[in-house]
Amino acid sequence: MDSFKLGNMDSRSAEALARLSAELEHRDAQDIVRWAVDRYPAGLVLACSFGAEDMVLVDMLTRVHPAPIIFYLDTGLLFPETYRLIDEAQTRYGFECVRVVPELTAAQQEEQYGDALWSRHPDHCCALRKVKPLQRYLADKSAWMTGIRRDQTLIRKNAPIVDFDRQHGLMKINPLAVWSSKDVFRYLIRNRVPYNPLHDHGYPSIGCMPCTRPVNPGDDARSGRWAGQEKTECGLHL
Ligand code: SF4
Repeated sequence: MDSFKLGNMDSRSAEALARLSAELEHRDAQDIVRWAVDRYPAGLVLACSFGAEDMVLVDMLTRVHPAPIIFYLDTGLLFPETYRLIDEAQTRYGFECVRVVPELTAAQQEEQYGDALWSRHPDHCCALRKVKPLQRYLADKSAWMTGIRRDQTLIRKNAPIVDFDRQHGLMKINPLAVWSSKDVFRYLIRNRVPYNPLHDHGYPSIGCMPCTRPVNPGDDARSGRWAGQEKTECGLHL
C-alpha cells in the first residue's frame, strides 16, 4: 500500500505529501506522468472526459505506459462528437477505454425521476450519472490522474500536483494543474493530438449535451456548463 494511502493520514504524512507535491510542481507534465506510472505500477487510472486536457494526458500516458487504464464516465448524454473522438483515440493510441456507466440508463432515469432531471435538479442528476459511478469505479484503485487545471474554477485554484483524495480514498495526480488553456492547445497542435471539434466551435469545456452551451469569445471557459445556474462542477473534484 502506498505510504500516503491512509484513511486517517497523520500530519507527518500530510507534510511529506505536500513536500512531494511542491517538488513535482517544478517538473514538466510529461515527467509527472512518468513519475505516476513508476510510483503506481498497478492501480493507476486516467479519468478521461475526452476534453482537451484529457487528450494531452492520453498522449503523455501512452508514451510511457504500454497498457494504460483509461476510463470515461458514459452518462449516455455525451455529444456525438465526443463518442466519435473516443473511437478515434482508441484506434490511434491502441487502448480500450473502460466505460463506466450509471446504474440507470437515461430512459430509466426519466421514468423514475421525470423528464430532464438535469434542468430541475442538476446536482441530483450528476450524482446519479457521474458521482456515484465514479465512486464505485475508484473504490479498488490506488491512484487516479485527472486533467484539472487551477485556472478553470475557484474550486480548482489550489489543486496540488499530487494529493490524497479523501472523497474517494486514493491518491490523485493532476499533472496539468499549472497549465493554461493556451499550454493545452499548444501541446495538442504541436503533437498532432486529436481533439473534440466542438472546441473549435465555441465549446472550451465539454460535458453532457443538455448542460453544455457554446460561449462567446472572451467569456469564462466554463460559463457554457450549466449556463444560467450557479452550478460549476459535477461534484467529481471537491
Ligand atoms: S452534466 Fe447535466 S446531464 Fe450530465 S450528469 Fe450532470 S446534470 Fe446530468
